[in-house]
Amino acid sequence: MAESPAGTVFPATWEYSPAPESLKVEVPGSTKLFIGGQWVDPHSRRRFPSINPATEASLSQIAEGDAHDVDAAVAAARRAFKPWSKLPASERAKYLYRIARRIQERARELAVLETMDGGKPIRESRDVDVPLAAQHFFHHAGWCDKLRYAVPGGNPRPLGVCAQVIPWNFPLLMAAWKLAPALACGNTVVLKPAETTSLTAIRLAEILQECELPPGVVNIVTGAGATGKALVEHAGVDKVAFTGSTEVGKLIAKACAARGTRLTLELGGKSPNIIFADAAIDQAIEGIVQGIWFNQGHVCCAGSRLFVEESVLAEVTRKLELRMASLRVGDPLDKNTDIGAINSKGQLATILGYIDAGQKEGCTVCQPGAQALPAKGFWCRPTFFTGVQPSHVVAREEIFGPVLAVMSFRTPEEAITRANNTPYGLAAGVWTDKGSKVFDVARRLQAGVVWCNTYNQFDATSPFGGFKESGFGREGGVHGLAGYLAE
Ligand code: NAP
Ligand code: MG
Repeated sequence: MAESPAGTVFPATWEYSPAPESLKVEVPGSTKLFIGGQWVDPHSRRRFPSINPATEASLSQIAEGDAHDVDAAVAAARRAFKPWSKLPASERAKYLYRIARRIQERARELAVLETMDGGKPIRESRDVDVPLAAQHFFHHAGWCDKLRYAVPGGNPRPLGVCAQVIPWNFPLLMAAWKLAPALACGNTVVLKPAETTSLTAIRLAEILQECELPPGVVNIVTGAGATGKALVEHAGVDKVAFTGSTEVGKLIAKACAARGTRLTLELGGKSPNIIFADAAIDQAIEGIVQGIWFNQGHVCCAGSRLFVEESVLAEVTRKLELRMASLRVGDPLDKNTDIGAINSKGQLATILGYIDAGQKEGCTVCQPGAQALPAKGFWCRPTFFTGVQPSHVVAREEIFGPVLAVMSFRTPEEAITRANNTPYGLAAGVWTDKGSKVFDVARRLQAGVVWCNTYNQFDATSPFGGFKESGFGREGGVHGLAGYLAE
C-alpha cells in the first residue's frame, strides 16, 4: 500500500511480466522522396535523423525536401491530375479499396513502425491508428462513384492538386484522413509528413506502389517546417489541407487568402469534459482517462479541461488519483503499456514548462504514479491539477501532453459558460444519466464534436473538425468530401 500526497491510500500497482511486441521491422538507414512514382534523392542532398523517442536511438536519416523538390512534386501531381480525374469513378474506387486491403495486410508492421517512430503505445497503434487508417480508405472507396449524392446540385468536380501537411501525433492516420477523400474525389496530392514521424508515410508510399497507383497521383515530400511552407505557398496548388498548430494554421490562412486557394484547417484545442453529479462516475473516470492520457495527451481534441459538478468533486478527484496510479508508463512496444514516450525532447520541455507554470500559479499538482521511468527517452507521468482558476495558464493554453486541469461548477449554465470560455472549439464531453440534459448541453457547447458518456471515439463515417480557432472544414463522412470538390 502507498499513500499519495493528498493522503489517499491506494494498493500497489499489479506487476506484469514484460510483453514486448516480437515483430522486428526493418528500417532503412536513409530515405528518399516519393515524386512521380519514383524514389529520388532530395535536391539539397540533406537529411535529418528520425529517432525513437523511447530510446533516443536514431532510426533513419530522412530526406529533407526543399523548394525544388516541392516544385517537382507539384508538377508530377499536375501531370497526373487529368488522367486520374478522368478515370471512371469505379476504377478509382478499386485503387482505394486495394490500398485499404494492403494496409490491413501490413497492419502489424505499420503499427510497430508507428510506435517506434512516434512513441505511442503499441496497443494504440495496433487497435486504433492502423485499423482506422484502413477504414478511411475503405469508406472513401465506397464514395468514388456516388459523389453526385454528396454535393448539392449533383455535379461534383475535383479541385486539382492538393497540398497536405500533417502533424506528428497520428502520422499514418492523418495521412489516411487527408489522402483518402482527396483521391476519392479525383484530386492528386503532395503530402508533407511531420519531421519527427515520416516513416509510416514512407511505408504508405511503398504500399501505393504495390497497389500500382498511377505515378504522380500521390507524392510524398518529407522535410521540416520550411518544406511545408514551400508547399502550401506554391502557386501550382489548388487546395491546401493542414492539420497542426493554430499558430502555423494562421500563417497558412494568410498565404492562401492572398492567392484565393481553397483551404481547410484542423488546429488545436482545449476541450472540456463535463461531469454531472448524476453521471455513472466510474464510467466517467474511464472517459476522463481516455480523454487526456490517450496518446500521451498528444491529441488535438484531448479533454484537457475537466469540469466536475461540485457535489461529486471530492469523489471524482479521489477516484481519478486511484486510476492514475494504475496507469503504466514505459516501453511503448510493451503490450501492457498505457502511456508511451513523449514524441520529442522539445515537446517534453513544453509540457514540463506548463507543469511548472501551473505550480507557480498556485495550482495543486497530482502525479500519483510510483513506477520508475526508463533512464533514456522522453517521459511524463500523467498529471492533474486541482485548485485551478479559469485564468490560470493550465486552464487556458493547449499543453498537448498528459496534463489535466480540474475545475468545478454548480449549475449547467455555469458549466456551459465556462466550457465555452476558450478561443478553441474542437471537441467536448458530457457525462450525465439524463438524456434531456445530454441534448440540451451538447446543443449549446461550441465544439465540432460532442461526445456523450464517452470520449475520443473516431469513425470514418463521422465528420471531425472545429469551430473558432480550432479551424474550419470537416474530415470524414459525407461532410469531409465537400473540402475536395469544386462548388
Ligand atoms: P505544427 O508545428 O503546426 O506542425 C504541423 C505540420 O506543419 C508539420 O508537418 C510541420 O512540419 C509543418 N509546418 C511547420 N511550420 C510550417 C509552416 N510555416 N508552413 C507550413 N507547414 C509548416 O504542429 P505540431 O507541433 O507538429 O503539432 C501539434 C499541433 O497540431 C497541436 O497544436 C495540435 O492541437 C494540432 N493538431 C490538430 C489536429 C486537428 O485535427 N485539429 C490534429 C493533430 C494535431 P515540422 O514537423 O517539420 O515542424
Ligand atoms: Mg521519430
